[in-house]
Amino acid sequence: MNLSVGLGLTNDCDLKCAHCYRPRGKIYNLTLRDVKRICESLEVGSVGLGTGENGLNPEYFSIIDYLRERRIPVTLASNGLTVQTTPDQILKTFREVEFSVDFPTENEQDAFRGEGNWRRILSGIQRCRKLGMEVSVLAVLMNLNYDKLGELAKFVGALGCNLRVNVFQPAHSRAYMPSYDQYWEAFRILFDRSALISCTEPLVNTFSGLNTLHGSPCGCKSIRITPLKEVLPCVYWPGEKVSLSELIVLKEAIFDLPQFRESRRTPKGCGTCGYVANCRGGCRSRAFLVGDPDGADTFCPLTRGRMERLSFTPAGEKELLRSQSICTTIVRG
Ligand code: SF4
Ligand code: SF4
Repeated sequence: MNLSVGLGLTNDCDLKCAHCYRPRGKIYNLTLRDVKRICESLEVGSVGLGTGENGLNPEYFSIIDYLRERRIPVTLASNGLTVQTTPDQILKTFREVEFSVDFPTENEQDAFRGEGNWRRILSGIQRCRKLGMEVSVLAVLMNLNYDKLGELAKFVGALGCNLRVNVFQPAHSRAYMPSYDQYWEAFRILFDRSALISCTEPLVNTFSGLNTLHGSPCGCKSIRITPLKEVLPCVYWPGEKVSLSELIVLKEAIFDLPQFRESRRTPKGCGTCGYVANCRGGCRSRAFLVGDPDGADTFCPLTRGRMERLSFTPAGEKELLRSQSICTTIVRG
């Protein structure tokens, strides 16, 4: 199986964003030895570095070297810091770099993420683009910015970047969770102002008529290893965890464990829904996080007696590594 493997090399970070899902408190790091054992246990098709600022892991450069030697394509998600501390010749080895930006203006971004963050990111984007790299901006869809993502897509599109959108997940609190109406309005605005590259957000994929899924990729094509050496079907998975040592023993049989089967289970609340083959109940982590593991996705229109239709313009053929990891939507403004 050609897996999309998410690695959180560290939960350390120089920022303290209010919507962050990383484990708080003590700092944990994956080691080079851990990464070697992961790569020897799974058929790794690609690696996405996320969670904290990966450059703060003490073995960051050795790990990048190792992944390069194994010819594994790697994407890096960063708030700008890791990019700043990575020399050009190493930066160029990443298949894609993603910068975390949630707002289309400097004032809003800095107020939310930290003073000076906007400028650090813009200089990182310019540097990566100069090196001829594929660059995306990664935004979290929240109740604070649901109506601003179209503008953000246009802004970053003009810089030569894609926009990837993950819906906020209530890992620590529900403070930034969009309402039902905000969720659907966000995608209407986004699709109106940009062209669609890919979408694995099951409800959006279903009600835009894309129909290219068999449920979310989490726990079947995509897997995440956290800095605490836990293996999860999805980065937001709140259910029972599997340890890295179990992965080393079980290898790809890990996908048969109850925790992983649970992440693929169609919830009872979806009953005999006609869209189930594509949607399969939507995002399973979200169902657990909102305390309704047997319920349909909280943003499902059908269970509210409603219907949603999204129309989009396809961006044309573009293969991005993060297209197949977690429930995510990528556009070009
Ligand atoms: S930059 Fe990313 S990892 Fe750091 S606090 Fe913000 S959301 Fe969390
Ligand atoms: S009922 Fe379930 S499968 Fe059907 S659209 Fe809603 S979440 Fe998806």
